Amino acid sequence: MSMNENSPLNKIRTYFNALQNSAEEYLFVVDVNTGEVLMSDNFMRDFSFPSNETDDLDSLILPFIHHEDREIYENAMNEIDKGNASKDVSCDFRLLHKSGDYGWVNLSMAAGKDEFGQPILISGVVTRMDVKLRADHITGLLNRHSFDVALEAEVTGAPGIHGAVVVVGLDNFHVINETYGHHFGDIALRQIAQNITNILPPDIKLYKLDSDMFGMIIPDAMPEEIEIIFSSVQLCMREIRNVEDTIYCTASAGAAFYPTDANDSVTIVRYAEVALEIARKKGRDQICFFVKETYDRWRYDIGMQNLMQNCIARGCEDFFLCYQPQVDAKDGRLIGAEALLRWYDKDGSVVAPMQFIPMLEKSRMIIPVGHWIIENAVTTAKKWQKYMPDFQMSINISLYQLEEHMFFPFVKDCIERHEIDPTTITFELTESQSVYDWEFVNKQFADFHNLGIKIAMDDFGTGYSSLGFLKNFTCNVIKIDRVFIEDILKNDFDKNLVKYTVMLCHSIGMEVCIEGVEEEDAYIFLRDECKADYIQGFFFGYPEMENVFVRRLKK
Ligand code: C2E
Ligand code: CA
Ligand code: CA
Repeated sequence: MSMNENSPLNKIRTYFNALQNSAEEYLFVVDVNTGEVLMSDNFMRDFSFPSNETDDLDSLILPFIHHEDREIYENAMNEIDKGNASKDVSCDFRLLHKSGDYGWVNLSMAAGKDEFGQPILISGVVTRMDVKLRADHITGLLNRHSFDVALEAEVTGAPGIHGAVVVVGLDNFHVINETYGHHFGDIALRQIAQNITNILPPDIKLYKLDSDMFGMIIPDAMPEEIEIIFSSVQLCMREIRNVEDTIYCTASAGAAFYPTDANDSVTIVRYAEVALEIARKKGRDQICFFVKETYDRWRYDIGMQNLMQNCIARGCEDFFLCYQPQVDAKDGRLIGAEALLRWYDKDGSVVAPMQFIPMLEKSRMIIPVGHWIIENAVTTAKKWQKYMPDFQMSINISLYQLEEHMFFPFVKDCIERHEIDPTTITFELTESQSVYDWEFVNKQFADFHNLGIKIAMDDFGTGYSSLGFLKNFTCNVIKIDRVFIEDILKNDFDKNLVKYTVMLCHSIGMEVCIEGVEEEDAYIFLRDECKADYIQGFFFGYPEMENVFVRRLKK
């Protein structure tokens, strides 16, 4: 059938042809004025229509629609024909398949209008429900259901089979959606799916598992082969381009082996997804293989996180504070203590803070726990000041606490309620992550300085707290980390470093507390040669429970 060169239908013919090759669905476009119809070839492949060249769609298709459903189709056609349908028109009906069976399909139509608002083209998409349940409508790839079926068949197949499940997740795909819109996101997804399919060995299928996650089953795979496949996937990712910009989207992947990691399909997929999550945590754009130990550790952390959440909800009842003495370096006289957090695990064992503080910080649970710590440390300090009026209490504060708006008002209220002298309280800033904004930190601390609370920089010489920051950070006390003290008597470098750091601090009006002093000789050196101000370490006392520590005061 020949068509007018300039007919709207003819203009979109090339586009239509391209589209029909990449779609699982059946497509048609009707020229409203002439009735001419373009139909995708797969109509002829799967249904028994006498021809796909027609200028009367209704009379072609109606005989193949289940007689009970014809009215549904006709109503939908009337609605779109009237031309005032502003949205898509969609309907479901049974259509006779080549096999001789009726199958449910969905027909979705939209009208394309000219500049006067008159419909000139009607485009329709027919989707088979059974296929839809297997395939992903955006990429045309088989979906998670199909993946599960295929994997189950693979792992329950011949004895001795082995291989790997690889899941590929797009990193930050939502950014593409947000920046360029969902429509572009869909096009990009389709492109990615096609690119990856093209680089895969022909016998390996790509499945679409979730909105931005793909999966594959690789029989007989060795880790090296999987790494090679993933490198090709990474190359594909560099090629998704927008018309104006070039956008780069990366992918991460996780892999698990059957039957070594697990031999049932559900567990293997879960393990591969765990490995993907770890790859993302490690910074994305990489592949990780499932490792049982990492997984157990991860599970432990999640378990602990839940326990802590419950514990916080119950008022932090499984937390307690230990107190480690701080002494005046000149004469070894007790001046105060540092409050150190401990946690009772469910079996009653005591867990050290390094095992859970990073998790509390990451989940921001450190904020409620931090309130509890201050409340309790201040209560204890007030009690102990009955025995020793100038008793100093040092409390660890993590950066995340400073970011909370209620922190300062809370501290102020706490000080007032307990009627404690704020100059007997020191906040130690402990934060191993880099401090991105010293201006912010100083601004926060300025309020505490004004209140009279002292500020100490913890773990000096490690992580964030180095010489450069002495310049930027206004504090009263520097706590030199114990890594410099461990070998101080054997190591001239450490000796000089500590000695000159103390000198430097004194010259700018800061006091110095030395941590981790375990031996008398070290103490004597620090006192006589370094002129340190305060000492904290096992030589003067371990962290102790409240009822133990209090004996030091009652003497
Ligand atoms: P930190 O603030 O540097 O606390 C000193 C740590 O060194 C304590 O470990 C203490 O037991 C240990 N220590 C003290 N003297 C010696 C010594 O002579 N030799 C050795 N080998 N170790 C010594 P702990 O209690 O396990 O605390 C570890 C870290 O956990 C603390 O390091 C601090 O960063 C964090 N932390 C503890 N309690 C809290 C808290 O209440 N809040 C916050 N945010 N962090 C806390
Ligand atoms: Ca500390
Ligand atoms: Ca420290």
